[in-house]
Amino acid sequence: MIVEIPKIIKIGALKATLEITPYAKCDDGYNGFFNQRTEVMGLDTTLGVGNRDRVLAHEITHMIDIDKECNLGEENISRIGNGWLEFLRDNLGIELDWSNIQ
Ligand SMILES: [Zn+2]
Repeated sequence: MIVEIPKIIKIGALKATLEITPYAKCDDGYNGFFNQRTEVMGLDTTLGVGNRDRVLAHEITHMIDIDKECNLGEENISRIGNGWLEFLRDNLGIELDWSNIQ
C-alpha cells in the first residue's frame, strides 16, 4: 500500500511543515532537522529514497520525544525511528509516497 506523506505533520502540540531543502545537515549525521520554533522539518535534497524515509522517521521521533517528554537521546531516537519504520514497511506493507513533498 502506498501512502502519501502529508505536507504538515502533527504530533500532539507540535507541528512541522515538511520541506526538502539543500544543506539540511543540522541534525548531526542525519541530513535532516526539526525546528520547533519555526515549525519546519527539513530533509536534505541529496538523500536517496530509502534514506529519506529513515531520516523522516528519525525527525518524527524527535517530535514524539519532545511532545511526550521522553528524553531519548540521539541514538535511541534513531533506533526507535528505524523500528517503527520497519513495522510500517515490513509488517503493514506501507510504502511512502513523496510526490507531494518536493
Ligand atoms: Zn536527531
